[in-house]
Amino acid sequence: IVPMRLQKFLARAGAASRRGSENLMTAGRVRVNGEVVTELGSKVDPLRDVVEVDGVVVRLFDSSVTIMLNKPAGYLTTMSDPHGRPCVASLVPTDRFPGLFPVGRLDMDTTGLLLFSTDGELGNSLLHPRHHVDKTYHARVAGIMSQEQAQVLERGIELEDGPTLPAQVCIERIAKGKTDVEITIHEGRKRQVKRMCSAVGHEVLQLHRSNFGPLALDGLTEGQWRELSDAEVKALR
Ligand code: URA
Repeated sequence: IVPMRLQKFLARAGAASRRGSENLMTAGRVRVNGEVVTELGSKVDPLRDVVEVDGVVVRLFDSSVTIMLNKPAGYLTTMSDPHGRPCVASLVPTDRFPGLFPVGRLDMDTTGLLLFSTDGELGNSLLHPRHHVDKTYHARVAGIMSQEQAQVLERGIELEDGPTLPAQVCIERIAKGKTDVEITIHEGRKRQVKRMCSAVGHEVLQLHRSNFGPLALDGLTEGQWRELSDAEVKALR
């Protein structure tokens, strides 16, 4: 990322004209990462530095950021919780990228691929019911799931909020009275995988999301995040 002059950044971001931006700086109204910057030659990293004018964060139009997190269990998918429970917000760099919000959600006990973005349009389009992004889950369920039950889930099953769309269901392993099953769904309803499995009589004991559309977790360990490349973000749209 190429550093740019602060007054140019401010003007590009629409804070003021180039001259007006210089005036904002010399008047002490501009902070970079919390520090007042008055020197006109100062440079900023337009993606990583937090620039404020009169305490309001200013960002470049095209500097939206999308990251993926390997969510550990025990965290709520929210940026703050009034009851003080652990939130995913504490796992992602909200200081560097103000305005990050989770795209979709994973249950508190679900692990795996969770996206965050500062790009509201991307978030809305990915969450739109007509935008069917494939999501692949690995579920460990109680009991032995039969091929017939797997096929019922594949064809679609009636839930309280209507039938599910066809899905891909692959039984991977049966051991000690539990079944590991890979399920790819094309919707994202609340607790969908758990409700689908329980509709055929199997409680989900563990749930992990490995893929979201073209993205896979690859080598990210639990709690780790990484920024998506422009190409990855493009592929999501
Ligand atoms: N389906 C669920 O039941 N829970 C999740 O967290 C995600 C998908």
